[in-house]
Amino acid sequence: MSVDFELSSAQKKLKYDVREFAREVLRPAAERADRIDDPHEAFVAMKPVFEQAHAMGLATDFLPAKYGGGGGSIIDLMIATEELSAVDAGFPTILLVNGLALMPLTWFGTREQCEKWIGLATAETSTDHLGGWVVSERGGTANFDHPSPTAGIQLVADHDRANGEYVLNGEKHWPCNAGGWDLRGADANLCIVRTDRTKGGKEALSAIVVERGTPGIEYEVIDKIGLRTCQNVTMTFRDVRVPEENLFADGDGDLVINRNFTWSGPLAGIAAVGVARGAYEFALKWSKTYTGGGSSPIIGHQAVGHLLAEIAAKIESGRYLCWKAAHYLDKYDSEGHALGAMAKTFCGDLMQTVVVDCMRIVGVNAVDRKFGMEKFYREAIVFPLYDSGSLGMQRRKAWGVMADPGFTPDIFVDGDPFTYTKSMEGYGVLGGAPPGPSRHG
Ligand SMILES: Cc1cc2nc3c(=O)[nH]c(=O)nc-3n(C[C@H](O)[C@H](O)[C@H](O)COP(=O)(O)OP(=O)(O)OC[C@H]3O[C@@H](n4cnc5c(N)ncnc54)[C@H](O)[C@@H]3O)c2cc1C
Repeated sequence: MSVDFELSSAQKKLKYDVREFAREVLRPAAERADRIDDPHEAFVAMKPVFEQAHAMGLATDFLPAKYGGGGGSIIDLMIATEELSAVDAGFPTILLVNGLALMPLTWFGTREQCEKWIGLATAETSTDHLGGWVVSERGGTANFDHPSPTAGIQLVADHDRANGEYVLNGEKHWPCNAGGWDLRGADANLCIVRTDRTKGGKEALSAIVVERGTPGIEYEVIDKIGLRTCQNVTMTFRDVRVPEENLFADGDGDLVINRNFTWSGPLAGIAAVGVARGAYEFALKWSKTYTGGGSSPIIGHQAVGHLLAEIAAKIESGRYLCWKAAHYLDKYDSEGHALGAMAKTFCGDLMQTVVVDCMRIVGVNAVDRKFGMEKFYREAIVFPLYDSGSLGMQRRKAWGVMADPGFTPDIFVDGDPFTYTKSMEGYGVLGGAPPGPSRHG
């Protein structure tokens, strides 16, 4: 009996089909968009590419078949994500966030809510459908599970029972896709809101779907240094009225946040691997052709050869950790909170050093924009920071799982189930300055 790392023939076909799409269609469009100064224009320039990706099924294949999706696995989505990210890391983020907007409905929503919102995304006419995952706030998201009602998530949803609505007031900062193609909103924005002003984050948060065009929301686009082909916005909510039937996970918004970022963790991890692979392919080719003024290509120098061997090993190890995490999440319907988080933090952090090492091999030309290598660097730096942040949320989540009395490291090796509970939340949110005189006087 062996451990099976083989891709099926369908998965190999997916990989090479997406690679061709990434190189032939995505690359030229992303290179143009990356150089557009206005961040919203850069995003809109990607719309035709998105529509083509949608036609290939890349935007919906991972959604459950019973709601019109392709019923694909996280592993399949991962194979596609690596190929796209090796060319441009912003574009697959648009697809990934579509998933973050809709997958929580499958875990916490009702059948009617799934049929309505996932059905909308998978309808034949929805060729440019965008979902937004709206959780982050300017004051900080990392402490969403803080026990104080005045810490963590502060977008408030007050229940107007007489009118059967929730009334939203506050601000969100950073959600991706959420402004939509025309800044009138994504088709469905899944917002994490505070439905109880008196309790802490483990009891007071819920999820609510806000439909495109809902009055009272303003969108302002954020100008980022990397991943410029996806859109991030600040959203201001002023007395935004949303039907109460759009609410779900009442009081369990904390669990929605954790499970959702567990689902996305290995996907963000493999996206980091993809960026590193793109840089590695560039450096490998360069090292076989560039002489640096010497008599033979620089790969003949031991310093270059050794570094290439280390780079390749790091990329391989990151990829297989992500595959393992995705395999585990596929088996347990995205209940694998420590493994998902570890795949994200390990790859997000490691792949930055890989990209820098690739640039060291290329040498000074790596910072000449003409060669396109600096884009890998601008993309790699985003990975420890996005997808809930590696320090503030993902590592804390893995920590909470490991601190549980029932946890043993064998759970991952043996592939046994391990359910995530609220008792694993809240680690580290009460940190403060150590007692004693301040070092700064
Ligand atoms: C390209 C991109 C796409 C994004 N897409 C989305 C999206 O679709 N939806 C969305 O809602 N957001 C999105 N974001 C925001 C992203 O998810 C952030 O990771 C998230 O806002 C958390 O940021 P943060 O960890 O920096 O949190 P903050 O709360 O701003 O914390 C800042 C830092 O403080 C430290 N810190 C604070 N508290 C703790 C603690 N208790 N323990 C340890 N360290 C702590 C950590 O170092 C942390 O990194 C996106 C961001 C980018 C760049």
